[in-house]
Formats: sequence, structure tokens, C-alpha cells
Amino acid sequence: MAIGIYGEDEALSKRYVSLARKIAMRHRLPLGSKSFCKKCGVVFIPGKTLRVRVASSKKAVIYECLACHAGKIYPYAKEKNAKRAKRGKK
Ligand SMILES: [Zn+2]
Repeated sequence: MAIGIYGEDEALSKRYVSLARKIAMRHRLPLGSKSFCKKCGVVFIPGKTLRVRVASSKKAVIYECLACHAGKIYPYAKEKNAKRAKRGKK
């Protein structure tokens, strides 16, 4: 919904995001934090409002908002290590 309207009306798109967040909060629903920017509220559209980069040196995926340039780092090394630890036990 917020993604579809983004090309036509950016402000309305942001309003949809804030509404969705309010509803989710009221009903205690987890709203995927990866679908919009927490800082400026813009909806994430890969290639348009979102840049996703893999930083292999940090073992993390970096989500960068192209509207306000806020970055969010999602490490993936933990999952890998957990799997390795399991394998080692066997
Ligand atoms: Zn942003």
C-alpha cells in the first residue's frame, strides 16, 4: 500500500507508514522493521529508497535509507557460528 503510492505521493506514503505503525503498536503486532525507515518513516523500496550492501569484513548486511541516509546494520555472523557450534557437538 505505502509502496504502491510512493511514486505518486511521497507524503501520503509516509502517512500510510505512520498509520501502519500506530495500528501495529496498538495491537502489539510486530511490524517488520526492514520495510520502512525508523528515522524518517519512508517506505523501503530496494533501489529507490533503500540501498542494501553486504559488508563481508563486518559479516553484516547494511540497509541504508536513501532519503535520510540512516544506516542499519544486520549482522549475520551469529547465525553462521551457531550452526557451526551445533555441527561441532555431533
Ligand atoms: Zn530514512
